[in-house]
Amino acid sequence: MRIVLLGAPGSGKGTQAKKLMADRNIPQISTGDMLREAVANGTRFGLKARSIMEAGNLVPDEVVLGIISERLSQPDTQDGFVLDGFPRTTQQALDLEELLDQMGTPLDTAVLMDVDLDILMKRLTGRRTCSLTGKLLNVYFSSQEEIDECRSAGGELIQREDDNEETIGNRLDVYRESTEPLIEFYRERDKLTTINAEGTIDEVYERLTAAL
Ligand code: AMP
Repeated sequence: MRIVLLGAPGSGKGTQAKKLMADRNIPQISTGDMLREAVANGTRFGLKARSIMEAGNLVPDEVVLGIISERLSQPDTQDGFVLDGFPRTTQQALDLEELLDQMGTPLDTAVLMDVDLDILMKRLTGRRTCSLTGKLLNVYFSSQEEIDECRSAGGELIQREDDNEETIGNRLDVYRESTEPLIEFYRERDKLTTINAEGTIDEVYERLTAAL
């Protein structure tokens, strides 16, 4: 299956994409993760991307398109993929459409993950990653056991650089302005499926798989 997960920052795209990847044996392709990796590696391009990402703005379309077309040409995408965080602009969606048409592998569906603003804010401000296991946790929603598990193993709860309140506000504005129009884009193409993405990870995953 070739799937796009659409939704505001904090709607749970990454979490659900990881579950789909494990269940269906298709890769999660996250432009955010790939960009963060470039930043961590300190490449020249990573240095440029860093300040854009820290401000919560979008990296230029041609840059992310380059990353995506390279990634989609790899053999592990043959049986499908889950795109998480791409496309984010109408131009990116048009480019993706063209790329997949050229490859003869059009998208099956775009799933919109619908979440109320107050929940998005808690998911984003509370989000942490365990430095030891890489597990995603949330100080508001994870159980005490999960948090203790990370700490007692010697891990620390790390907050993403762009998960502070100021940057979050901008990321949500950017989403509304640049990414929300994609809902209409995929609806017009009869590819849009909307799910209620509030509730526990497992509840949302059940709705997602039922929709697919
Ligand atoms: P994410 O992990 O998906 O929330 O992405 C983190 C940051 O990476 C975003 O706030 C952008 O600065 C950048 N980014 C990720 N994906 C894209 C994309 N498709 N287009 C432009 N910028 C992106």
